[in-house]
Amino acid sequence: MNIQPKRRAKIRKSKPPRADASRPLPSKGPPAVFLDRDGTICEEVGYVNHIDRIHVYPWAAEAIRKLNQAELPVIVVSNQSGVARGLFSEDLVKQANLKIAMELAAQDARLEAFYYCPHHPTAPLEEYRKDCRCRKPATGMMEEAARRFGLDLKSSYVIGDSYRDAQLAFNSGARSVLVMTGYGKGEYEHHRKSWPRMPDMMAENLLDAVEKILDGRARPSPHSHSRTKRKR
Ligand SMILES: [Mg+2]
Ligand SMILES: [Zn+2]
Repeated sequence: MNIQPKRRAKIRKSKPPRADASRPLPSKGPPAVFLDRDGTICEEVGYVNHIDRIHVYPWAAEAIRKLNQAELPVIVVSNQSGVARGLFSEDLVKQANLKIAMELAAQDARLEAFYYCPHHPTAPLEEYRKDCRCRKPATGMMEEAARRFGLDLKSSYVIGDSYRDAQLAFNSGARSVLVMTGYGKGEYEHHRKSWPRMPDMMAENLLDAVEKILDGRARPSPHSHSRTKRKR
């Protein structure tokens, strides 16, 4: 049996844009799968204002393990404006992320990194009041991960339960998968008529999303010319 050492996910806060934030993004490199946190990996409960409110979906570990096996880096990108709204501390976000990472690691599912945005443009807390580049659907967190891990965003995926996650994918050139957990079903049923662009894929939950992504990667894209269709 192949026993792999358990690695702890790196917990990091998305930093303000640095001097090198303008340097070009890697155009080559492996794709990654970016996951929303609340409503995608764990239950959407409004705001996670206590770590006891973290409930990882029972299928999440299997989904992430499959991505690990396919050697696709898995990176969490999460808006946590509850910090800026004064509902909970940034420390709680870190604790919650650590709890999720450890629960998944106990089931051999590995997350490469966590990024979160604690800001809000009209936040009551001045130190977090910011029209930042990291709040989804802005692409700051994905770009920081791309530079850090040498990822190609254009061949990457974003899985999330909000249309905002699909917009994040559109804005970064990645492909989007909307899951029906969390806010997904409600957003899809009640708001899709107003969406200027539909998500690239729909999925029941994170595991279904991962299976669709891996299945799509195994088969040639319907848009590419397959050998049998090529004109002679
Ligand atoms: Mg969500
Ligand atoms: Zn931010």
